[in-house]
Amino acid sequence: MQKLKILKISFISVSFLALTTAGVANAQNSYSYPNLNLKSCSLSKSISLSEINKITGETCKYDKTSLKLSDGRTFAIPDPGFGVSSHTLVTKDSKHVPEVNLIRTPKGDLAVKIDDNIFGNSSAKEFVSDIEIRQKQQYKSTAKPTASNKCAKPYYVYLGGKWIDTYRWKINETWGPGRGATDRIRAAADTWTANIYYCGKHSVAYATEQYQGKSGTAVGVTREGGCAAHGSESTIGYGVISYPPDVLGATCVHYFLHELLGIMAEADVKFNTLDSWYTGASESGCSGKWDLQGVATHEFGHVFGLDHVGQSTGQVMRPSSPPCDTGNRHLGLGDATGVKLLYSPIPPV
Ligand SMILES: [Zn+2]
Repeated sequence: MQKLKILKISFISVSFLALTTAGVANAQNSYSYPNLNLKSCSLSKSISLSEINKITGETCKYDKTSLKLSDGRTFAIPDPGFGVSSHTLVTKDSKHVPEVNLIRTPKGDLAVKIDDNIFGNSSAKEFVSDIEIRQKQQYKSTAKPTASNKCAKPYYVYLGGKWIDTYRWKINETWGPGRGATDRIRAAADTWTANIYYCGKHSVAYATEQYQGKSGTAVGVTREGGCAAHGSESTIGYGVISYPPDVLGATCVHYFLHELLGIMAEADVKFNTLDSWYTGASESGCSGKWDLQGVATHEFGHVFGLDHVGQSTGQVMRPSSPPCDTGNRHLGLGDATGVKLLYSPIPPV
C-alpha cells in the first residue's frame, strides 16, 4: 500500500509535465497489453525508414527485424507498447548526431522519431503526435549564450519518461580505462540523486539509483551507435562506437508506454574506447583527454529523464563537450531544476 502511494505521488508530478491526469495503479510488473493478433509480414532482417513508411494499414510482428538508418546505426525494434530512445554526446557541437526514438504502439505499429521528424504509417505517426512522447520544456531566453550563464537560467528538456522505481545498474569493466573509472562513474550517478549540489546551492532530488556491482552482460549500445534489444538489466560499460564519428558516449533508454508517460525499464550507457579518457578524481590533473566523470554525468542525465538543451546554455545536458571538461561534473541550474521537478514528491499546484 505504501509503495502504491509513492508511485501515485510520483506520477502526479509527471502528469503535470505530460499534461495528463490518468492514474498509475498498474505499475511496471503488473501492466500487460491485450493479446495482439499481428500479421506476419514478410520483412527482411534489416529494414529502412522508407520501408517503414510503406507499411500502412496493417501491423507486423517485426520478428527479429532491425531498423537500419542511412548513417549506419541499427536499432532493434521494440515490442508493442515499448519504446527506445538513443542519445549521443559528441566532441564538437558541429558534429550533431540526430536523436532517435522508436515507438511501438500497443497495436504493434512502429513510429520512428529522428530529431523532430516522425516516420511510420499514418496511424503510428498520429499516435506519436498525440502523446508528444518527447516533452520539450526548454525555456526561451535571450541571455548571452556563454558558459558563464550555467547558473543564470533553468534550461532543461525532458525525454518524456522517468523511473517510478530505483534505477539499478551494473558496470561491465571490459575494455575500460582502468584505475578509478568505476569510482568516477559512480560519482556521476550520485550527482543526480539525493543531496544535489549546483551553483553554490544544496537541494534534494528524489531520483534514486543503486549500483549493483560488476556485470558480464554486453552493453546494449551497438558498435554503430544504435540500440540493441531491451534486455534484463541496465549495463554501463565501454566499447567502440565507430559511427557516428567523434562520439564520446551514447545512452539507450528503454521504456514502456503508459498513457502519455514513458516509464523507464532499462538504460544502458557506453563510453567510446576510441577516445582517451581521464579517470582521475582531481579536477586539475586532466590533459588533452576526455573527463570520464564529466561525460558520465551527462549520460546519467539521460538515464534519469533529461534530454539535450542548446550548447550555449552551458548545462551538463548540452550535446557536446570539450576535452578535460571537469566542470561537467557539476550540475547547472537547469540540470538541477529539471531532475528536481521530474522526481518531485510534491505535486505541482
Ligand atoms: Zn547526450
